[in-house]
Amino acid sequence: MKHRILQIALDTPLDFCFDYRWSASAESAEPPLPGQLVVVPFGRREAVGVVIAVETQSEVPANKLKDVLALRAQLPPLSPQWLALCRFAADYYQRPLGEVAIPGLPKNLRAIKTVSLDRALKKIAKDAAMHDPAPRAMPPLNAAQQQAADAIAAAQGFAPMLLYGVTGSGKTEVYLQAAAQILARAEADGTAAQVLILVPEINLTPQLENNIRTRFPGVELATLHSGLAEGERLAQWLSVHLGRARIILGTRLAILASLPHLKLIIIDEEHDPSYKQQEGLRYSARDLAVWRAHQLAIPIVLGSATPSLESWQHAQSGRYRKLELRERAVRDAVLPRVRLINMERDKPAEGLTSTLVTALKQRLDRGEQSLLFLNRRGYSPVIACDACGWISNCTRCTAFMVLHKPEQRLRCHHCGCEQRIPRSCPTCGNVDLQPLGRGTQRVEEGLQQVFPQARIMRIDADSTRRKGSAQAAFDAVHRGEIDILIGTQMVAKGHDFRNLTLVGVLNPDTALFSHDYRASERLFAQLMQVAGRAGRAAQKEGGNPSEVWIQTRYPQHPLYAAVMAHDYDSFALGLLEERQHAGLPPFIYQALLRAESKELQTALDFLQEASRAIAYPAITINDPIPMSLTRVANVERAQLLVESASRPALQAFLREWMVALRGMKARVKWSLEVDPVDI
Ligand code: ADP
Ligand code: ZN
Ligand code: ZN
Repeated sequence: MKHRILQIALDTPLDFCFDYRWSASAESAEPPLPGQLVVVPFGRREAVGVVIAVETQSEVPANKLKDVLALRAQLPPLSPQWLALCRFAADYYQRPLGEVAIPGLPKNLRAIKTVSLDRALKKIAKDAAMHDPAPRAMPPLNAAQQQAADAIAAAQGFAPMLLYGVTGSGKTEVYLQAAAQILARAEADGTAAQVLILVPEINLTPQLENNIRTRFPGVELATLHSGLAEGERLAQWLSVHLGRARIILGTRLAILASLPHLKLIIIDEEHDPSYKQQEGLRYSARDLAVWRAHQLAIPIVLGSATPSLESWQHAQSGRYRKLELRERAVRDAVLPRVRLINMERDKPAEGLTSTLVTALKQRLDRGEQSLLFLNRRGYSPVIACDACGWISNCTRCTAFMVLHKPEQRLRCHHCGCEQRIPRSCPTCGNVDLQPLGRGTQRVEEGLQQVFPQARIMRIDADSTRRKGSAQAAFDAVHRGEIDILIGTQMVAKGHDFRNLTLVGVLNPDTALFSHDYRASERLFAQLMQVAGRAGRAAQKEGGNPSEVWIQTRYPQHPLYAAVMAHDYDSFALGLLEERQHAGLPPFIYQALLRAESKELQTALDFLQEASRAIAYPAITINDPIPMSLTRVANVERAQLLVESASRPALQAFLREWMVALRGMKARVKWSLEVDPVDI
């Protein structure tokens, strides 16, 4: 009887692998391989783990070793490259290996109850007959697009590329034709190839998915995102893991999938904040993608009209190759004219200045579509009592309760608690409570009064709660059933609305004075993106140019001047200079330790102690401070920022620091974030 010791990663907060004994049985004479899934006893329960290594000896005494209960033999092992990715992410983000490797697997594979993979496999086979829209040929690329696509397809080894193309320059077409070349070459060589395309949002996948299917008839496509039902998720994941899917379209979580034949990675809208996971393993899908491309020695394309400063800096320094698309792809389509409305002079009524109302009216008369952008959902961010000064604070958070008028509720967007709108002031009984400020619901209401005949639609997280409703809403816009679209950042990204000739930006000023140093980078990107929704069709001879109107109280602000000039280059240059002077990323590296407790002082005390836990050269440890949103759901939160000009130095420090922190008796819940984006 053969025995082996298996080192197994389990999804627990303990930062090591666990040894288990494997004994040959009739079922499988050979010991499992690294990358296979096993079921083991863990405490009083059973758990699914990944085999990391197979050894002959263990430091655990033989009488303490437990036996592996079952091997998931039906599933081919996860590759050594995938295990290396998990190990890298675990080291870099300072998390246990099991917490990286296991939660990314489909739930059905992590469940103790065995699922039949046959059913999932049958489903994959059935699906591959099912979708087959009429194939469409690839349109001929323009010269700049062709150059970019050829450069990507010809790249050898690790080749990071920034596809810097204005909105509407046809970046998608470049991705697809480069992918087509790489897949065709692999087919000719008789080798397997997979192309991973990452997009920021689920609601952008159906459009692109359909586009891909018509371009690649007969090629298996898998989609990976958090909106899939579990059975579907397993089927999609398996088709990728088994190497059947050639093109994989996914959101950030797809970067952690097993992609055994990966030959090209594409990240669309690479600047988008949603590539950063903001809970649990707080990873950057973009950064992991670059690591993966390096590991596999393959090309990676980062596409954007407004690249992140990190990627832009790499392109400037020559580390990334820059591919440029300066013009819109549709012939005679031009970037919209961007202008400012000074709200001090043209005072808004119902949130709309007279200039904007006139522009909207013109579009309605001409049968063209308009889009209004306001990054604040709900009716009003707060309600107040004029008589006594009461305001709708959330009792559990340092935040206001937001008025949601259609639902007749007050809701806290931070802890989720809600209540009916009070009939009268809870303090003085005054029945005349006033909404202060304006969200998308209130603008929608105002628009209906100003333009009673117009077909108006609101798209935000509230209006699209039901599954599929976002897609239905966007479809209605594409079919021309909507005259005026009002929405949050959901409407700003990616969409190729052909009949849209006016974009109005209602209230962008708040971001100008944010304490968050990334706020201006984000605002600029948002404005360029939302402006990019206009003017995507050919401008008719003698026709009117499409327009973007930005309502502001600060028309002199240099950020707006850059937006008006569509001048990302100078804006990025200025921001990078500022960041260098101020010692901010991408010129330094940061990590953030967060602590949560019922008492703020307890959290601060823990961080104070943590800041003294170890001494280390070349590391700046700042003072602990309360987080700007200090209390959420009755929990007080504080943070400690650690910085270094050297990434390796920071990594070395974090490794030792984590050991020290894990040894501390903490009366708080704490977590570490590496490369934080919200500080
Ligand atoms: P981006 O992602 O750069 O904003 P898109 O990929 O959405 O731009 O392309 C904008 C529009 O241009 C799309 O409607 C697309 O079909 C069209 N397009 C792209 N390439 C070409 C081309 N070579 N000729 C004609 N139209 C094109
Ligand atoms: Zn009152
Ligand atoms: Zn709250």
